Amino acid sequence: MPLYVKILIGMGVGLVWGIVAVPLGMGEFTQLWIKPFGTIFINGLKLIAVPLIIVSLIDGVSNLSDVSKLSRMGGKTIALYIGTTVLAVTIGLGLVNLIDPGHYLSAERRDSLRESFAADLDTSIITAHATKDAGPLQIIVNIVPDNLFNSFSDNTNMLQVIFFSILFGVALILSPKEKVAPVKNFFDGANTVILSIVDIIMRYAPVGVFALLASLSIDLELLQALSIYSLNVVIGLAAMVFLVYPSLLKALTKIRYRRFMRAILPAQILGFSTSSSAATLPVTMDCAEKNLGVSEEVASFVLPLGATINMDGTSIHQAVSAVFIAQAFGIDLSLGQQLTILMTAVLASVGAAAVPGASIIMLIIVLEAVGLDPAGLALILAVDRPLDMLRTAVNITGDSAIAAVIASSEGELKSEEEVERAKELSAAQS
Ligand code: ASP
Repeated sequence: MPLYVKILIGMGVGLVWGIVAVPLGMGEFTQLWIKPFGTIFINGLKLIAVPLIIVSLIDGVSNLSDVSKLSRMGGKTIALYIGTTVLAVTIGLGLVNLIDPGHYLSAERRDSLRESFAADLDTSIITAHATKDAGPLQIIVNIVPDNLFNSFSDNTNMLQVIFFSILFGVALILSPKEKVAPVKNFFDGANTVILSIVDIIMRYAPVGVFALLASLSIDLELLQALSIYSLNVVIGLAAMVFLVYPSLLKALTKIRYRRFMRAILPAQILGFSTSSSAATLPVTMDCAEKNLGVSEEVASFVLPLGATINMDGTSIHQAVSAVFIAQAFGIDLSLGQQLTILMTAVLASVGAAAVPGASIIMLIIVLEAVGLDPAGLALILAVDRPLDMLRTAVNITGDSAIAAVIASSEGELKSEEEVERAKELSAAQS
């Protein structure tokens, strides 16, 4: 049975367990005896994320023939990331104005949601303010670490790790070949080892995914109360996955969309179960290289960057949520305010960390930019987890689609036959 089928089964059984566990009185058992297996699995993925970025990016960059290719690839990648994010926010804004979900929320429901979730908001508001007060260039300043070990020791400093790895890779290209050959060989070998570790962790994925989903208690009643809003977010996400990405791939690559979706399915399922693009990154890279045929050079550059800055699902969520909250409080947003939402949601999704619930924190900045009370977030907190799962899967799909586009434009995307042949070869070798 292929791994992705096993993971799908783990996901299905986990979801059913998660829904029936509490009503059947198994809630405590699930938290004590099942949840830890999910935590072990996420820890394994996070454990390998930083070493993977360092090794594969240094290896990938140092394999480039010259530095100009890197800057060309960088320019295209950033342009595509920003372009798709702007499109995502525009779709989100269009839909939320059309569907108008805020008017379906009764006044009593609104008040009760506010009461039950207001207390959860304080820490998020403090974090968001710290981010906002830091000055416009702080994002760039933060990318350059002043101490390597500090950045390597914290999984949220991905951009710093990326910065150092690119710097190291570029320096390898610029150094005399004979002198740095052992260094390059080391990273070549280390890369193979790290990819094997990813494979080992992934064998455990069906159990991990089951445990993660089984221990989520999803409140179906609240989901229903906020169903039109949730549906609105879901339609926006679906538009990205079923309209925007297929069109992008059709226009710019030769990949059939079904093949693309099958190739990255394990990463999507994992994004869905972990709600974290960063934790999923090792698997996204594995799927892009092995199943999709994206070269290591492209995957190791485009995907870590995408996990941190390209979040189409998150940006749709922010646009829909901001307008929904305004509608629920009976505030009509002007065109200028909606444009402000567009701009801040794009920036907020770039700044959002690739961890569960990051969108909610950044949403505070979007709300404040248009003069809305951030306490309005209480209205949507109840359904954030399921929506986070979906938007993370979309974030990963967007990163992978752009990795395929960049690889194709650089002539570094293997055809379906080549991918199959490489798979048979590695199966025979092992
Ligand atoms: N959980 C999302 C991610 O890691 C970020 C967010 O939308 O909250 O991609």
